[in-house]
Amino acid sequence: MSARPAAPAAPVDAAIVGGGPAGLSAALYLARYNRTVLVFDTGHGRSTHHQVNHNYLGFPDGIATVDLRELGSRQLAHYPHARIVHHRITDLEGDADRGFTLHAQGHHWQARTLMLATGVLDHFPHFPDWQEYAGRSMFWCIACDGYENRGRRILVVGHTDAAAGEAMQLHALSDQVRLLTNSRSDEISPLMRRRLAAAGIPVLHDRIKAAEGKEGHFEAVVTRRGLRLELDALFSVQGATPETELARRLSVALTPSGYVAVDTEQKTSVPGVYAAGDLTALHSHQVAAAVHEGAQAASAAHYFLHPPELKAG
Ligand SMILES: Cc1cc2nc3c(=O)[nH]c(=O)nc-3n(C[C@H](O)[C@H](O)[C@H](O)COP(=O)(O)OP(=O)(O)OC[C@H]3O[C@@H](n4cnc5c(N)ncnc54)[C@H](O)[C@@H]3O)c2cc1C
Repeated sequence: MSARPAAPAAPVDAAIVGGGPAGLSAALYLARYNRTVLVFDTGHGRSTHHQVNHNYLGFPDGIATVDLRELGSRQLAHYPHARIVHHRITDLEGDADRGFTLHAQGHHWQARTLMLATGVLDHFPHFPDWQEYAGRSMFWCIACDGYENRGRRILVVGHTDAAAGEAMQLHALSDQVRLLTNSRSDEISPLMRRRLAAAGIPVLHDRIKAAEGKEGHFEAVVTRRGLRLELDALFSVQGATPETELARRLSVALTPSGYVAVDTEQKTSVPGVYAAGDLTALHSHQVAAAVHEGAQAASAAHYFLHPPELKAG
């Protein structure tokens, strides 16, 4: 006797793609609205490096972002109607009338609303074992890690005016700042070059070949031309790519810089689809902003799911 195919599972109220601070915050709010929720997560995002957050309220000694994720998952585990699924969603289809279908590795799930919280892919300099340094002594954000690096030897890495600007801002925290282009091209404008020179910030046009250090803490980087640059911290200004592949499958509108366009309720251009966290450019890319956007997106989705008689107007 042949096995009968499994009956398709009932659609959940909300499917969330991404289990970082934005996705977990959205899931918690939805669970507490008594909505059924699935969170899909592959566990590789900005919140899975080694950084300790010192600017997230309520943790006097700071909190490692991976620990914050773990705490969020445990908080969510109190709600049996919310579940984290460790699968990479590879395809999406549908709309708010028919419902959305999410696909991964031969499985599929149905949801009435959809939340995208897939984050960004940072372009850190790549050299052997670079991941060990990311979040420990290789950073990108002054709001996150500038304070701890006051007065230290800082190497800013990037070849654009954005890198020059970050070097100038870091110079307000340390007088030991250098800039390394780490690129074939050098696109720093004459104006920014003059400002860097006036501040005494050397500009080196070379590329990183290797790093020397212990347990993710730099002692030096060695360049392709053989320079050995001693440093305590590297700030990478090489950009990031928003993870918008799934958003584009649903023809969700993007901003000119390629992030998912949302309004202040985190609604995208497609009804029933919300986006939160670093994937959007609504607020700065911080854990506090991701948690806020996730909560706001959840509230908007919850309202969207109400039958008409529960809505004002
Ligand atoms: C080195 C470093 C230091 C930082 N320091 C601070 C700090 O001190 N303070 C601060 O506030 N912020 C800091 N940040 C920024 C902070 O980590 C981000 O703002 C935050 O993680 C954004 O949360 P998110 O949920 O939007 O995205 P992420 O944390 O990137 O999570 C996205 C998740 O989506 C998953 N995902 C993506 N695509 C799929 C898919 N197709 N299917 C399933 N899952 C998918 C990924 O696996 C990932 O787990 C730092 C970032 C870095 C890199």
